[in-house]
Amino acid sequence: MDHSPILAIIVPCFCEEEVLPSTNERLRALLADMVTRGEVSGRSCVVYVDDGSSDATWTLLKGFSEASNSVCAVKLSGNFGHQNAIIAGMETMLHEADIFVTIDADLQDDIAAIPKMVAKYKDGYEIVYGVRSKRATDSWFKRTTALGFYRLMQHLGTKSVFNHADFRLMDRRTVGELLRYPERNLFMRGIVPLLGFKSATVECERSERTAGTTKYPLSKMLSFAVDGITSFSIRPVRLVLTIGIVFVFIAIIILAYVLYSKFSGHAVSGWSSMILSMWFIGGCILIGLGIVGEYIGKIYIEVKGRPRYHIEATTGQLPSQKQHTH
Ligand code: UDP
Ligand code: MG
Repeated sequence: MDHSPILAIIVPCFCEEEVLPSTNERLRALLADMVTRGEVSGRSCVVYVDDGSSDATWTLLKGFSEASNSVCAVKLSGNFGHQNAIIAGMETMLHEADIFVTIDADLQDDIAAIPKMVAKYKDGYEIVYGVRSKRATDSWFKRTTALGFYRLMQHLGTKSVFNHADFRLMDRRTVGELLRYPERNLFMRGIVPLLGFKSATVECERSERTAGTTKYPLSKMLSFAVDGITSFSIRPVRLVLTIGIVFVFIAIIILAYVLYSKFSGHAVSGWSSMILSMWFIGGCILIGLGIVGEYIGKIYIEVKGRPRYHIEATTGQLPSQKQHTH
């Protein structure tokens, strides 16, 4: 009987036809090696989640799962986003595997870290974070914006693991707990550390995308960052309050000045400073409203409680459907 854990490697894919053939090769080879070494069960598998791709991704994935019974694929009915695609993969596999590794389809994170993660799991850690040791191959822009983002998150009091993206191992219990978070604006990097449990980190190198282009253009990256901050921190709202209080004090001082000039007889002067402060305060109010609106938007989306994804099709054999060969 096979007592080693069943591993599911979950790979979200959005229009990844260029990288998938090599990704599949590398992941299957890795899995086969790990099975041979007895680190994971022979029923382990790679699970691809097609996040509503418009290219040949799904055709490729169907081919992969027909060619190997250690590959299965899930097709979402539209583009639900990276985070929801991962959730879809986890929910599908929850009762099928013991441990779950999530990794991006471009394999920019070094897959050699996966056996190390499994070793940590065997040492008793339930969550293992893959941490990028250096990001020399990322563009200067991506590196600086990413670092700035991690710093800002830390500064805003969000618990997050520095230089960790969504390359991590979780066991069935912690995945089950993660799935209990019902929110739509799911920012996993922030939520997983909130779960608690015994966790460890494993260093990995980040390499260049071998093919295809990034699915995170600047606009998506920015909205990801805004989501990350507003999903976890109410400090921006408090900041608006503080600014408001400061403004009230300034207004009191100005009032004193106005009364003084009125009684000393040169009231018409000071028009320019009036106009100036009007614009300034108007601007601040708008900023404040914008921030508040951001949160109201969040409430709106959460309150609707819509499903996070829909599965259109699945292919391949789940581990539980496989014949026991022992
Ligand atoms: N991705 C996805 N849905 C999206 C955007 C991206 O599933 O709407 C996947 C994508 O296929 C990849 C991962 O998320 O596996 C990370 O994307 P990418 O590598 O392009 O981001 P980067 O590494 O440039 O930040
Ligand atoms: Mg990438």
